[in-house]
Amino acid sequence: MNSMKIGCHLSVAQGYLHMGKEAISIDANTFQFFTRNPRGWKTKELNIQDMEDLISLMKSNGFSPILAHAPYTLNPCAADERVHEFALMVMKEDLAIMEHMPENYYNFHPGSHVGQGIEAGIQLIVEALDHMLYTEQKTTVLLETMSGKGSEVGSTFEELQEIIKRVRLNDKLGVCMDSCHIYSAGYNIVEDLDGILEKFDKVIGLNRLKAIHLNDSMTPFGSKKDRHAKIGQGTIGLDAIIRFINHPLLKNLPFYLETPNDVPGYAEEIKILRQAYNE
Ligand code: FE
Ligand code: FE
Ligand code: ZN
Repeated sequence: MNSMKIGCHLSVAQGYLHMGKEAISIDANTFQFFTRNPRGWKTKELNIQDMEDLISLMKSNGFSPILAHAPYTLNPCAADERVHEFALMVMKEDLAIMEHMPENYYNFHPGSHVGQGIEAGIQLIVEALDHMLYTEQKTTVLLETMSGKGSEVGSTFEELQEIIKRVRLNDKLGVCMDSCHIYSAGYNIVEDLDGILEKFDKVIGLNRLKAIHLNDSMTPFGSKKDRHAKIGQGTIGLDAIIRFINHPLLKNLPFYLETPNDVPGYAEEIKILRQAYNE
């Protein structure tokens, strides 16, 4: 195994330690998981021992931080107060879970403003984060770059920066860049990766960039759609993805695959990407 930090999305259904072992079995040294089953809202009964077992497995195997993904059906910037409050409640619960596994990441989609306008949406997200974040927390909360489908907030670096700037405890915040989403949003990482990263640095600051969702895209550049493709089978293509993972400003970040795959499919992609990675 080389020094690339790479993993994929795994199911939490059989517990935390199980995900760690599954990651190791496919040559991954990190992974992503949903904090709960997107179809059912009940949190898996908390098993602190299972979490501690995962943490020690991660330590002895040199894992990079793992990424918990909030349910994508949450809408922290919903106009409906109950929907907004529900998102906040779930996110607070998830953060409490992650605090049992300190120094890892919790990623969420900023949400959709559904007709209220970007400014109102941003303000609601800021309010949610101001209620959620606290000084002693050990988890870094990541805002994901979105594709801009429908009325999604967070498909431009400026919108993400506006959220970060307004949040009180913004030292707890970072960004997770999704390669499929930003390409769909109109950031041309195929033709101008240097320029895009320069822009990210100017607007948000590369010090905020903590994680990468590594996906190819089924839809054309700038399409504002969100359809992930397998690595090398989409509009971004293998060559651009290989340049992306080896870019000096990105290569030391953890990469999380969210491609349409089962675990053996992920194992295959991890193998290809590790081989294409320059130490
Ligand atoms: Fe996501
Ligand atoms: Fe993503
Ligand atoms: Zn996506």
